Amino acid sequence: MNAKRKRTNAKLDNETKVSKIIELLKKEYPEAKITLDYTNPLELLVATILSAQCTDKRVNIVTKALFKKYRNAEDYVNAGLNELEEDIKSTGFYRNKARNIKKCCEALVEKFNSQVPKTMEEMIPLPGVARKTANIVLSNAYGLAEGIAVDTHVRRVAKRLRLTDYEDSTKIEMDLTKIVPKTEWLRITDLLVFHGRRICVAKKPKCGICVLKKLCPSELTSNRNDASSTLAH
Ligand code: SF4
Repeated sequence: MNAKRKRTNAKLDNETKVSKIIELLKKEYPEAKITLDYTNPLELLVATILSAQCTDKRVNIVTKALFKKYRNAEDYVNAGLNELEEDIKSTGFYRNKARNIKKCCEALVEKFNSQVPKTMEEMIPLPGVARKTANIVLSNAYGLAEGIAVDTHVRRVAKRLRLTDYEDSTKIEMDLTKIVPKTEWLRITDLLVFHGRRICVAKKPKCGICVLKKLCPSELTSNRNDASSTLAH
């Protein structure tokens, strides 16, 4: 078989596999959805920036008060940097996050009439916004599928399932967009995140009770070694 044909077959195999994975995960987690609290695109953008290296639970505690105090992009622009840092301190990396939120809101006010834009092209240059944040906001706030959001859980589970061999989030996203049907781009992130939090956890994944074990090449390795040390995290 020539190399091109082999690549096509591998892609088809992965497409079939990923469709089964989605079907099984949908049954397992019908409730899977983003766990950050928000009521509008700006709130989701701020919450997503705050969620870097922080749990959604902690972010939701912080944003409960934050979103009452800062109601629009201008409020963040007009806030003192020190005050904003204090308001978000417990999410960690607060100096960077506060600076990014302020600069990002300045750009929203100057270029987008204080609104969160609706395209990847416009979102990516915003301070503190990379593809993951842009994808999360575009998909959840606007229902737009421009890509697939890859966070730490999506990266770990996709690698263990051998849907990708890459470490880099953008390359993982490109691999996933090739095999996941576009109609599922919004859903797959939530499904993989739920599975990564509950079963395919970083240390000692619960392969014995995993609904994907028959489809997962990492399952054997895990059983043999009784530890996750040989698995991709
Ligand atoms: S079988 Fe194990 S490694 Fe594979 S997806 Fe399930 S929990 Fe993760």
